[in-house]
Amino acid sequence: MQQQKKRRKNKKGALRTLSGLFSMLLILGASYFAFRSITPEISSPNSSVASQPESGATVSAQGGVQKWAETKTYTQKEIHEGSLILVNQKYPCEEYSELEMLSVYTYKNSSYMVSDKNLSLRKPTIAALNDMLGDFQAIAGENDILVCSGYRTFEYQKTLLSQEEEEKGAEEANTWVATPGYSEHHTGYALDFNLLHEDGTSDSYTGTGIYEWVNEHAPEYGFVVRYEPDKAEYTGIQYEPWHFRYVGVPHSLIMKEKNFCLEEYIQFLRDYPADGEHLFFENDGKEYEIYYVKGLEVPIGEADSYLVSGDNVDGFIVTLEREKK
Ligand SMILES: [Zn+2]
Repeated sequence: MQQQKKRRKNKKGALRTLSGLFSMLLILGASYFAFRSITPEISSPNSSVASQPESGATVSAQGGVQKWAETKTYTQKEIHEGSLILVNQKYPCEEYSELEMLSVYTYKNSSYMVSDKNLSLRKPTIAALNDMLGDFQAIAGENDILVCSGYRTFEYQKTLLSQEEEEKGAEEANTWVATPGYSEHHTGYALDFNLLHEDGTSDSYTGTGIYEWVNEHAPEYGFVVRYEPDKAEYTGIQYEPWHFRYVGVPHSLIMKEKNFCLEEYIQFLRDYPADGEHLFFENDGKEYEIYYVKGLEVPIGEADSYLVSGDNVDGFIVTLEREKK
């Protein structure tokens, strides 16, 4: 165990440099609609989170911001944008433009493969993927994970559903493939894994064996396994160990600590309105303060940086970040 840790650290030095360079590129190019931060750090995944996962962080509720720094006015459209949008059979999403996505093939590191040069995702999703699978390769020595699905247009989802219906019949097909507009794959924050081995054979990704590490540690990088076996009553989707959703740190860590799927988490956050108690979470020398705002007028508390995401329902979730002194 000790040895494994050491080995990981040594390799991580070089990886860090690479992922650091990548993060810098991302930060330089990062400019979002629903994502505005005072310093850009919070909108790009923090690679140092992974090295200190056990910070003894716990979720707590406290009286929130006493003094607001500013109030931002968002548009109705922006409720449907951001890394915390809840997309499921009840809440369809907008059709996002391909222009908001980046080619994974162009921006990925060498720790994994991609099934198609045109497969695309959003910047923070790719950055988190590079960090997570870079660390996985350093630990397990494997780079046979293949990203086989990312951003999808409504049109493409329609094709997938028709194919599934032909194979399994309409009723069964709908438990596996979502109706166009109702799939997380439209968002650019969701992706599927497959395995493509060196000898050319392939396997479906089950998150078991050495790959258990990925499913276990995903929240440290901002990902959640979106469809867990015990959450189908909320998600409406059966267990998919290969489907990862980027929600960002600290939300992925809180979801893990509370054992919440995204449906439960978004509901839980509604109990922390701007004018009530806020949710606090500490991790890796940072304090996060989180609250929910219904409507388009969003008060922002004083912080080192902040992130605002629509919830795809009726409001926004604000995440304030401060360095712990
Ligand atoms: Zn998927």
